[in-house]
Amino acid sequence: MLKPKVAILGLGIMGSGMARRLVGAGFPVTVYNRNRVKCEPFVREGAIAAVTPREAASHSQIILSMVADDEASRHVWLGEDGALAGAARDSLLIECSTLTAGWIQELASLATKHGCRVLDAPVTGTKPHAESGELVFLVGGSLEAVAAAQPVFAVLGRETIHLGPTGSGALMKLTNNFLCGVQAASLAEALRFIEASGLDRAKALSILTAGAPGSGIVKRVADRVQANEFTPNFALRWMAKDLSYALQEASTRQVPLQTVSAAVGVFQRAIDEGHGDEDFSAVSKVSTS
Ligand code: NAP
Repeated sequence: MLKPKVAILGLGIMGSGMARRLVGAGFPVTVYNRNRVKCEPFVREGAIAAVTPREAASHSQIILSMVADDEASRHVWLGEDGALAGAARDSLLIECSTLTAGWIQELASLATKHGCRVLDAPVTGTKPHAESGELVFLVGGSLEAVAAAQPVFAVLGRETIHLGPTGSGALMKLTNNFLCGVQAASLAEALRFIEASGLDRAKALSILTAGAPGSGIVKRVADRVQANEFTPNFALRWMAKDLSYALQEASTRQVPLQTVSAAVGVFQRAIDEGHGDEDFSAVSKVSTS
């Protein structure tokens, strides 16, 4: 099965780049998106457009979802028109969205009863990495399912890391993103402090990014601030979602995440101030009160 039939559910920033890679590599691809207009360019490039996730799944051996959050994932997989209802026994379901491990477990249990295999395979990397096939897949599930998914992962990513049983990929991804979100929120507060102190912002950012605090994420946000460019690669509301999901998962394990709680507050204020659809780096624009 070198080029299995693949369904892509969700043609947002990430799903569209991934779908285009697979179509370009000659895979038979069926696309589904809630807003159907987004399917049109893919049909011109050779994909089939499905009206429902169920229809997309019924054409495919591998069904990959890349949607916003738990609610969106539940919508595309479950229900009368959901992908699970259309999936043949032995299909491989790959959930690439950043979701709670709780929902992933529920999905996996339903899918297993249906005779399907499931992987949680959220990704690191952003819009350009999705477009160029340089994502890193953080995978939970059986090794046999990972092997079956490899022809697809190989086109979409530069690395596949198997972390353990179902839900491991989701938990690793939330850990990754809460460390990023906390740093971005902290830099936003540093910027307000720099301004209130009368320091030169450009000089301050250059010192911070060249020194010990200059992590990849701090550099990325600082570059956006200097360029005053906040077109989304990764929307701020989805970073806020990831921080909330991390808190949710940590609380079920009795692990307090105090810096994440604080960062959620900063991100929520940025959403309230109208920055939710901008790049997450727009958290740098949040006000002090
Ligand atoms: P996006 O551009 O906002 O796209 C979201 C997708 O989800 C769209 O296809 C949207 O459909 C669909 N959707 C939203 N609510 C839905 C619902 N209730 N029912 C069905 N479909 C729904 O987001 P993205 O940046 O591609 O991110 C997708 C996932 O990848 C998220 O979980 C995000 O956290 C994760 N992620 C993103 C990045 C990044 O850099 N962007 C990196 C790693 C992981 P419509 O077009 O109809 O709205």
